[in-house]
Amino acid sequence: MSRPIRALIHADALRHNYGVAKALAPQSRVFAVVKADAYGHGLLRAAAAFGDVDGYAILEIDGARRLREAGYNQPILLLEGAFSVAELQLASELGLWLAVHDDASLARLEGIVLPRPVGVFVKLNTGMNRLGFPAEAAAAVVERLRGNANVASITLMTHFATADEPARGIAAQLSRFDAATAMLSLPTTVANSAALVDYPAARRDWVRPGIMLYGSSPFAHKSAAELGLVPAMTLQSAIIGVQRLLAGDTVGYGATFTADRAMTIGIVACGYADGYPRHAGTGTPVLVNGVRTRLVGRVSMDMLAVDLSDLPGAGVDSAVELWGRQLSIDDVATAAGTIGYELMCAIAPRVPVLAV
Ligand SMILES: *Cc1c(COP(=O)(O)O)cnc(C)c1O
Repeated sequence: MSRPIRALIHADALRHNYGVAKALAPQSRVFAVVKADAYGHGLLRAAAAFGDVDGYAILEIDGARRLREAGYNQPILLLEGAFSVAELQLASELGLWLAVHDDASLARLEGIVLPRPVGVFVKLNTGMNRLGFPAEAAAAVVERLRGNANVASITLMTHFATADEPARGIAAQLSRFDAATAMLSLPTTVANSAALVDYPAARRDWVRPGIMLYGSSPFAHKSAAELGLVPAMTLQSAIIGVQRLLAGDTVGYGATFTADRAMTIGIVACGYADGYPRHAGTGTPVLVNGVRTRLVGRVSMDMLAVDLSDLPGAGVDSAVELWGRQLSIDDVATAAGTIGYELMCAIAPRVPVLAV
């Protein structure tokens, strides 16, 4: 028998969640955001599962090329644009759309004759202060693009910092965006998953959901299940060893967990080299035979320990779910001090993946 860890990718969930996004914004076109290997789900596997989407948004031009080579002819937006002249040339050959976010990326578009014009998304900074022209420069940037034969179309874009926090919301950024762009009469796109779900005003010509497509909630205060989303990844393994502890015995590296009574623990074939977070501490939820129990002690490279004291039927070969259909990735992420995004993106290459 091989090492029992595997990641299951649920095609039905990916398709369902894309449908949830579509239903929220029936007047918009919906990019499936598939950067970072479709948030760890596998780019082509996810694309096949999503079915007929309006478009894809991705960061890595190599992924865009793989989508084209696999026959996907929908719009593909490069979220951070081309990083060089060579990438710009390739983007044009592949018929990609691309973000332009600063003077250098704008100048690259002006200093070249592309094989075919590209759709351009002008990224405007409305308060995130990461990438983007100051929103107030929108009219001047558009003016330059309108005179450029390499430009097939222009869309205006921004990204929100606090769409997932109702107390802070998107109002300030959205009004800065609208004030700077309203008179330009161009298509716009502003919404990530959180903004798409919570703010009807953010459902513009295009919306850009990522995390919700994978069945994880963009919010700390609202679960994926409450949003009607279905987990698209199950990380499962099995118990490969059992230890009986006496009060005072410790578990694992650093001996950070001490039994306060006689206990049974199970050793699971899953560690940080599989992508499980090392900073998940004692108490992080784990399912054994479908029953919720807790991780104990430090996660090591290839193994972690779980409390089987109240699971008399559990032992070697018992099924373990680290996260997935029955145990929300968001619950595990919260216990580990992170977010579902990071966990799903971190699944390691050594974990066999099964499309189901
Ligand atoms: C990643 C990304 C998204 C998707 O964000 P989610 O929070 O995963 O929905 C949308 N827009 C841009 C520009 C992004 O980089």
